[in-house]
Amino acid sequence: MRRYRYRCTVCRTTSPVVHEIEALTAIGEDHRQTLHGGHFPDDEIAGQIDRLGRWYAALPPLATLHARIADALSDLRDIKAMGHYWWASAGATLLIGGSAALVLLVASAAL
Ligand SMILES: [Zn+2]
Repeated sequence: MRRYRYRCTVCRTTSPVVHEIEALTAIGEDHRQTLHGGHFPDDEIAGQIDRLGRWYAALPPLATLHARIADALSDLRDIKAMGHYWWASAGATLLIGGSAALVLLVASAAL
């Protein structure tokens, strides 16, 4: 399940989590129209977030990969909740570490 948020850096407010991109667009437009007369606040942020509430676009690549795997594993248990289960976070770390070890092993065997 995808999660989205809108943040206005002028008002210093963040929208509740929504699950549809259309709802995100509507929230942003409503906020701009109601509080800013249709103007676009500087540095506003809108986009997909992970289960910890972090914007994917703001995460470094490795953290993004970890968040996506931990999100997918946590969604197996409870699709509506936020936060990562400890086993999902550990599973993502093991999967990434295991993949890196496998690549190293194959690369060193090939040389
Ligand atoms: Zn605002």
